Amino acid sequence: MSTLRLVQVALPVPLPQLFDYLPPSGGSLPPVGARVLVPLGRRRLVGVVVGQADRSELPAGRLLPVIETLGDGQVLLDAGLLGLLRWCWQYYKHAPGEVVVGALPPALRGAAAHLPAPPLQYRLTSAGRERLQQPPGRAPVQYEMLAALAAGPCRDDALGSIGCQWRKTLAGLLEKGWVTGEPVPDDRLCAVPGPPLTRDQDAAVAAVMADIGRFRCHLLDGVTGSGKTEVYLRLLESVLDAGGQALVLVPEIGLTPQLLRRFRKRLGLEPAVIHSGLAAGERLAAWAAAQSGRAALVVGTRSALFTPLPRLQLIVLDEEHDASFKQQDGFRYSARDVAVKRAAELQIPVVLGSATPSLESLNNAVEGRYAWHRLRERAMQAALPSWRVLDLRQQDALGGLAAAALDAIGETLERGEQAMVFLNRRGYAPVLMCRSCGWHGSCERCDANLTWHRSAGRLVCHHCGSQRRVPALCPDCRADALVGAGEGTQQLEETLERRFPQVPILRFDRDATARKGVLDQQIEEVRRGHPCLLVGTQMLAKGHHFPGMTLVVIVNIDQALYSADYRALERMGQMIQQVAGRAGRSNKPGIVILQTLHPEHPALELLLKQGYEAYARWLLEERRLADLPPVSYQALLRAEAHDRSVTERFLKEAAAVFPAGGTRLFGPMPAIMERLGGRSRLDLLVQAGSRNELHGQIDPWLPRLRELKSGRKVRWAIDLDPQEL
Ligand SMILES: [Zn+2]
Ligand SMILES: [Zn+2]
Repeated sequence: MSTLRLVQVALPVPLPQLFDYLPPSGGSLPPVGARVLVPLGRRRLVGVVVGQADRSELPAGRLLPVIETLGDGQVLLDAGLLGLLRWCWQYYKHAPGEVVVGALPPALRGAAAHLPAPPLQYRLTSAGRERLQQPPGRAPVQYEMLAALAAGPCRDDALGSIGCQWRKTLAGLLEKGWVTGEPVPDDRLCAVPGPPLTRDQDAAVAAVMADIGRFRCHLLDGVTGSGKTEVYLRLLESVLDAGGQALVLVPEIGLTPQLLRRFRKRLGLEPAVIHSGLAAGERLAAWAAAQSGRAALVVGTRSALFTPLPRLQLIVLDEEHDASFKQQDGFRYSARDVAVKRAAELQIPVVLGSATPSLESLNNAVEGRYAWHRLRERAMQAALPSWRVLDLRQQDALGGLAAAALDAIGETLERGEQAMVFLNRRGYAPVLMCRSCGWHGSCERCDANLTWHRSAGRLVCHHCGSQRRVPALCPDCRADALVGAGEGTQQLEETLERRFPQVPILRFDRDATARKGVLDQQIEEVRRGHPCLLVGTQMLAKGHHFPGMTLVVIVNIDQALYSADYRALERMGQMIQQVAGRAGRSNKPGIVILQTLHPEHPALELLLKQGYEAYARWLLEERRLADLPPVSYQALLRAEAHDRSVTERFLKEAAAVFPAGGTRLFGPMPAIMERLGGRSRLDLLVQAGSRNELHGQIDPWLPRLRELKSGRKVRWAIDLDPQEL
């Protein structure tokens, strides 16, 4: 034990600990929340100070000093945010350094990086004005810059066209006192007022506003088109007008230019946008604007959750049921659950919005822990769509579409309206098979079929990405008898092109929209409203508002009805409801056609006849009977290795050292897709009646797991509140 003043540093290494360091030689102790450069073994790493202490477990002789306090000791992560990150690493059992350093934008993870200074603008001083009265003399470029500033203050990017060394010119003017720099004031654009609110919207806004300044979770449960976004906008307007900051989180696919345009127009300001697809510099600039308090509104995806916001007053999480809010690898956290935690710590309200709430949130609403606001009317007087179920057993299907569905599409297009065909399978056909011997293309590395991408001439595994050329003949029997079985979006597109050659067909899937900008272009084209036909995967299910869309055909959801994953029915219901929500959103009624081989399935009947809430409540009851989440709490220990027996040995030993107590342990058992990317994946599932009980047994278990020798031959990780088995 040593008693010295020292700092505890979070370092980006996969170890379950913090690291103690002495202050830099000759320097003072770096403050909590600042970045430091420290030695670790032979490496030098950038970490974040998360605490200060008087004593260390290490003997004094082994303590090393910080090499350098970075950024002049500027505090980047405030105490509140560090407290949240600490809660995260303890709750999700992840390496503290990866959690904390991961909260910094990538551009700040290197030693040379620094927080950019806020943008400045420059204005003429009275001395500068006097100088301008004189002739230019021997400094024409300086004179030109003064003249440019005579019209009013300019930002430096507006001065960049003056001379080839404009920075030097500007520095000269500043030095002479002819020009002065000042922070750029907020450019509030002109905000456009929103439409009048419906009674439901009004009540929801009032309820959340009454909670400003204290914690409460509000579930905004509104059918598609009921105007959830307008509720968010009213709340944001109030919070921002009162000088607060707000954070809006959207699913990965929901962050479209259309959405940002709407925020800009209605609120009259430029939101700071944060998501992982941004260039490092752009992301850093947005982060710095939020951290300094300059940006009033941050809109982003999952990773924006950890943005420091000194005056945060409101968090909104749109499409709260969306799977992209759960990180599936590395630091496996739920942005929804952490957002609720952040709001609770800050004593501010959080709004979770969805047309199809997750069972977790619905359960919290049913049990009164969340305020529950139902928006059941569509804001624009549009009727909810009507359903038609097509029994595929009694229909001829052409390329996956029943004759009645094709007829309905034709009628819709003839009326000058738009239609959409939804199929959650990209590619041409989900499998290529031999009609002669039954061979079919399967991935050598995964328990999965290879999808046939006909135009590229390739067989592709959608799970591990491996691909190969399509063979000309059957690899087994050499027969010229290879055919696609089933349909993917490419084949549907082809079928529809042949049948409806006169209308444009737009495909929305990862292959068709891989090039940057294509997705937004296509969305714009649909929104122009002329007759067209859309084919696509779940990319079509999310949030887009297509006013001319009156028909939705759902091709096939049958595999969800009999899936081994207990969450499959929840996801199926959400998907169907979300896709159906695209139909009939303006003044024309919509029709949704669902093709299925199982029209009599009770789940399907309930969903279509009584709607999502009744369906979700039934699922919740099923979960209650089976003692599954959200009624119980789970953690998943997943191990993977090339050799199944190695994985199995580790998990058996892991089960043997599980602490005694009230929780239940299941397994080892194979993951639903056991082989993925050449690795065999097995699970142990821990389940408990309460969170405390679950963590009470996992916390002492983890150090035992780290000591198991068999664990060194496998990759293993623990996933709290797992979403995928
Ligand atoms: Zn064959
Ligand atoms: Zn594969």
